[in-house]
Parts: sequence; C-alpha cells; structure tokens
Amino acid sequence: MKIAFIGLGRMGWHMAAHLSRAGHAMVVCDAAPGVAQKWVAQFSGTAAETAGEAVKDCDVVCTSLPADVQLREVWNSAFAQLKSAAVWIDHSTTSAEIARVLAAQASASGQFFIDAPVSGGTVGAEKGNLAVMAGGDAAGWSLAEKVVASYAARATLIGGPGAGQLTKMANQICVAGVGQALAEGLSFAENAGLDPEKVLEVMLKGSSTSWMMENRSQPMIAGKYDFGFSTTLMRKDLALVLDEARRADASLPVTALVAQLLADVSKMGGAMWDWCSLMERQRKVLKK
Ligand code: NAD
Repeated sequence: MKIAFIGLGRMGWHMAAHLSRAGHAMVVCDAAPGVAQKWVAQFSGTAAETAGEAVKDCDVVCTSLPADVQLREVWNSAFAQLKSAAVWIDHSTTSAEIARVLAAQASASGQFFIDAPVSGGTVGAEKGNLAVMAGGDAAGWSLAEKVVASYAARATLIGGPGAGQLTKMANQICVAGVGQALAEGLSFAENAGLDPEKVLEVMLKGSSTSWMMENRSQPMIAGKYDFGFSTTLMRKDLALVLDEARRADASLPVTALVAQLLADVSKMGGAMWDWCSLMERQRKVLKK
C-alpha cells in the first residue's frame, strides 16, 4: 500500500517507521527542515517537500500533528490532491468538531477521514503497542484498521466522526487526576523523609498502582523531564476537554484544577518538560 505520513515528531517518527518495516511504500513529510530527510536516511521511503506532494497517489494518509490549527493547514494544502476513495487517518489529538467537519468534507467527495488519536506515549509508539481510539465511517475503518495494526496493541472504532477524539478526552480526564495524585503521593513521601524507591516498590503492588506509576515515577523521583508528552501538549488536551465539557454542561472539577497546576509548571520553565513534571510544582510548594 502507498502511505503518506505527515508529522514526524515524537510519535509520528516511530509510527511511520513501523509502517515502513511492514513493507508499505512510504512518503514522509514534516514542516521542520531536514526531518523528513533524516527519516528516509534511516528507513525505506521518500521525502516530500509539501503535504500536497506527499499525498498524491497514496491509498492512505496518516497525520500526527500538534493540534487543530496544523491539521487544518495540512488538510487545506493536501485535500485537493487526495486520490479517490483514499483514507485519511488522523492520529493527532484535536477537537471533536474539526474531526466532524473534515469527515463530512471527505465523505462528500468519496474519501474517508478517520479521527484516530492514540494513547501509550512515545514508548508505546516506539514499541508499536499504542491504544488507538477511532471515530468515522465503518467502510473507511476497515482499511484504516489494517494500517494501524502495525503500531497498535488495540484499535477500536468507537462510533461516528469525532467519537475517537471524545474517547481520547475521556482518557485524558482519567489520566490528569492520576498524574497529580502521583505527584502528591511521591512528594509527600519524599517530604516525610522516606526512601521514595522503597515506597514505590510496595505501592506498585498495591491498590494505587497505575500506568502513570509504572512509567513515570522514576523520572519524577529523579527530576528528569526531558522526554515524552510535553506540558504544553497536555495543557492543549485539557483545554479541548474543558471546552467540550462546557458545551455539554459536564462537571470536571479535578481536570480543571490540573489544567491550572500545569499552567504553573509552564511558568516554572516546564513548558517542554513531560507533564509528569507536576512533581516539580509539588516539590516547590512543599519545600520547607
Ligand atoms: P511533536 O510536536 O513532537 O510532533 C509534531 C510534528 O508535526 C513535528 O515534527 C512538527 O514539525 C510537525 N508539523 C507541525 N506542523 C506541521 C505542518 N503544517 N506540516 C507538516 N508537519 C508539521 O508532537 P508529538 O508528541 O509527536 O504529538 C503529536 C500528536 O500526538 C499531538 O496531537 C499529541 O497531542 C498526540 N499525542 C502525543 C503523545 C506523546 O506522548 N508525545 C501521546 C499521545 C498523543
């Protein structure tokens, strides 16, 4: 299959690599100078200068972009070049609204747009065991499912256009509170003079264990945040969630609080740190 992959960032780089290893004919593109060339130096595929050039003759287009604004920009420059019946799989975390709009536009011209945000972090992307939550037309999904199988441990079509993004919002609501709770528990233990490694060892076998605890406690204890999912991207996700919640008149007090705490982390210089740097805010406020 010929596949265009647009957006070779922390996530897209690995996902495109899995598709190349699976034997697909890859065309890659990224707005940052030299990134696509660096990718083709390591994996089989060709680099395109523009998104419009990348998608030409492709059966499938995958995007992994920061947010709505970049997705809209890429869509506007590439949509006219899309092959008939092509399937566009968007792995970015965006609003549900843009997913619905682009799916309607695709459908009107005989193509498919599937919103397919992911969970599992950069490690999940690298290992190829992401969770993919999708929204869109079942006919488009039947092809998309085969493509995402290269980097997903689980891929589920939840419902129509936008359902993938709404599911990702539910995921972020669940994880936001857990992240802050972990920062509070670890900083509390540290402040009480306990050995955080010992505390962690026992808690990992107890009722408070979680993906966050398994995957983020070590960098939190070490104070090393130069990896993963940035505070800026998590703030973007929570802003999308709170916007959707306002429309639905849904009460999300913990999510709203964590969004504010992440704003503090940004002010502390942590905009590009992994968002588990909530731990540094805790350390700062607990400092005796
Ligand atoms: P990133 O910032 O590392 O990568 C985005 C890439 O898109 C960059 O390489 C950038 O140069 C490129 N880009 C931006 N505008 C472009 C344009 N107009 N044309 C072509 N390329 C363009 O971000 P990421 O961490 O890889 O995340 C990508 C998406 O996945 C985001 O929506 C994020 O919320 C979501 N996500 C990330 C993680 C994670 O752990 N990093 C986990 C789950 C979901």
